[in-house]
Amino acid sequence: RAKATRRGGHVLFEDSIRRELETRLTLEAELALAAERNEFELFYQPQIQLADGRLIGAEALIRWRHPERGLVSPGEFMPVVNTSPISERIAEWVLETACAKAAAWERAGQKLRIGVNLSPSQLQSGDLASSVAQALARTGLSPTSLELEVTEDILLHDEQSALNTFLKIQALGVRLVFDDFGTGFASLSYLKKFPLDGLKIDRSFVLGLLVNPDDAAIVSSTIGLSKQLGLSVIAEGIEDRATADFLIRMGCEEGQGYFFGRPMPASEFEAKFLTAPAAAEVA
Ligand code: C2E
Ligand code: MG
Ligand code: MG
Ligand code: MG
Repeated sequence: RAKATRRGGHVLFEDSIRRELETRLTLEAELALAAERNEFELFYQPQIQLADGRLIGAEALIRWRHPERGLVSPGEFMPVVNTSPISERIAEWVLETACAKAAAWERAGQKLRIGVNLSPSQLQSGDLASSVAQALARTGLSPTSLELEVTEDILLHDEQSALNTFLKIQALGVRLVFDDFGTGFASLSYLKKFPLDGLKIDRSFVLGLLVNPDDAAIVSSTIGLSKQLGLSVIAEGIEDRATADFLIRMGCEEGQGYFFGRPMPASEFEAKFLTAPAAAEVA
């Protein structure tokens, strides 16, 4: 169909698209297989009360334990997962697995908040609130222990249905927090539109806090904003003591980052952070 003179260009273009599509399809197929083979795993990263260093919660972060490639980070496969048919299945697994783990900790005597990252498909399918209710019922986790993390790109799709879903979720007693706050285009307008319970200050503002006055100003204003709006606030990406101290002086109460602990397998998290290991639980 292409004109003879432009043919070369077209062929090249189509070739590169085909290659991209093939790579994507391969990865999609691999991911479906990985789900079947239970190669996904949740890591847990501690969340800390900055003033006294007390553990208050954990964020569940997905990893892919690839038989040959080893541990694969979500940045390498979640973008494909999120736009492929297996998205809902993986998202359900994440929710259920994180709730089950936190419920086990709760039964072992340690009530912690558990943060779960939502996927776009969960809001698009329209029945997220009932999935959440079911996950809570099946695992026995207290609704108030669950904190769902939403990013701006998730909210973009259908604001009205997202709002309805959020209200239903909050009616269950579950908390909703705005993840990567400040990195999107419409963070402030979303704060006004959606009934959020808290903010997570993105690590891109926290990492340079001590050396970059602009970052310090943004973080400090975000902490002030969250207080005036009655929202909880947690800083992500705290990598050293000095940054934690600076955040305390700015009035930030909670933090998360490599300084307190990297995301780690559940068993390691339990050994390091739990006073009463869930492993001791009578099955
Ligand atoms: P996020 O939700 O903002 O998660 C925080 C990311 O920051 C994690 O990367 C964590 O390892 C990293 N991080 C934590 N503390 C520090 C620090 O002190 N310094 C630095 N440089 N990084 C730190 P990770 O685990 O690679 O996850 C990346 C993103 O992938 C997450 O960002 C989240 O958007 C997405 N993701 C992870 N797990 C899931 C999941 O189960 N479901 C969905 N839908 N998305 C997930
Ligand atoms: Mg998150
Ligand atoms: Mg985040
Ligand atoms: Mg982030």
